[in-house]
Amino acid sequence: MQSFRFSAEPLPAEAEAARAAVRVFLDAELAAGHFVPHRTSWTTFDAGFSRRAGAAGFIGLTMPAAYGGHERSGLVRFVVTEEMLAAGAPCGAHWISDRQSGPQILRHGSEAAKRAILPRICRGECAFGIGMSEPNSGSDLAAVRTRAARDGDDWLINGSKIWTTNAHQVDYLLALVRTGEPGPDRHGGLTQFIIDMAAPGVTVRPILDLSGHHEFNEVFFTDYRVPDAMMVGAEGEGWGLVTEELAFERSGPDRFLSDYRLLVELVDRIGPEPDRFQAVETGRMVAQLTALLGMSASVARLLDKGVVPGVEAALVKDVGNSFERAVPEIARRLVPVEPSLTAQGEPFREALGGVTLRAPSFTLRGGTREVLRGVIARGLGLR
Ligand SMILES: Cc1cc2nc3c(=O)[nH]c(=O)nc-3n(C[C@H](O)[C@H](O)[C@H](O)COP(=O)(O)OP(=O)(O)OC[C@H]3O[C@@H](n4cnc5c(N)ncnc54)[C@H](O)[C@@H]3O)c2cc1C
Repeated sequence: MQSFRFSAEPLPAEAEAARAAVRVFLDAELAAGHFVPHRTSWTTFDAGFSRRAGAAGFIGLTMPAAYGGHERSGLVRFVVTEEMLAAGAPCGAHWISDRQSGPQILRHGSEAAKRAILPRICRGECAFGIGMSEPNSGSDLAAVRTRAARDGDDWLINGSKIWTTNAHQVDYLLALVRTGEPGPDRHGGLTQFIIDMAAPGVTVRPILDLSGHHEFNEVFFTDYRVPDAMMVGAEGEGWGLVTEELAFERSGPDRFLSDYRLLVELVDRIGPEPDRFQAVETGRMVAQLTALLGMSASVARLLDKGVVPGVEAALVKDVGNSFERAVPEIARRLVPVEPSLTAQGEPFREALGGVTLRAPSFTLRGGTREVLRGVIARGLGLR
């Protein structure tokens, strides 16, 4: 049976130096009034913030210099990510590009795609979305039906995607589509393509979430034409690539810091003299958060070594999402007030209202709890 490959090591000096540097950048952004700390940090789209973060050298940290990157370690990127989220910075315009699409194009994209796209990602000028889920294919990605058919040196894509976060604002999607038959293990015949959202043949239709917010969408392809050079990986290799990409998607601090602002508001609201119950429960949450940060940093170390830590990433996401789901429930017991979306001047109530509505999505996006536990069990050789 395989075991988990987590290790507890202190962060290197270069990571702590990066922490100090990104704090200076974030303080200056706040002082200039460029953003208001917000709990939906990594989905809030702000092209100006991403451009300034890129210019300051905080995007494309692990990318090669040849493509505009900074050749730093995954641990440096981990620390910068943690600080951006803790500050509630609006990272949505570079989040997916920097976290997963860029690294995926670097490893498996054509040279033309790398040269055209990676430097723009590193400058914070290029936003990506994830085109995996379809109406009858969310957990079961092997059932993807959107089809690409060869047409000379191009491919023609027809079909649709759903729940595509920020599809109405991004420049590209990295989409998983069917180019052949599934084969006996159902994992064959899938291929990833870079979809230019400005090209003809793509239509985006909004879906409003429970709080009335427009974040995700349906995306339709009608004879959408994409050249061979925008294929990522080889034809039919999409399943392996998506599995690899999900290891990047699932292990970062974004998987347990979604309600960090609520935790901050809770501590402020409780004040310097907590009762015993408040002290114990708050201490427990901070201890869990500290353990999760250690686990997530450990996955960043594995990624630095070129390992694809799919099982560890799934564990970080599962434990992290359980934590994120619990925070609003515990907060309500510690300070029993009515959650609200419109409680002006009452940041705790307002944060509680927002997080309570969004929390159910934490254990859905990026893979559901049941699916992650299946991945972990399979990885450990238990099924
Ligand atoms: C906020 C948010 C943002 C999202 N953004 C994106 C995005 O940008 N791009 C994108 O492609 N997708 C996105 N998604 C979609 C997300 O990845 C899917 O919702 C998720 O993978 C589940 O798929 P589904 O909704 O089709 O549910 P289903 O797969 O139909 O699952 C329904 C239920 O059945 C359970 N289930 C399914 N299969 C199994 C199994 N084998 N064993 C046990 N239980 C099972 C699931 O756990 C779940 O509880 C987003 C979702 C949310 C909530």
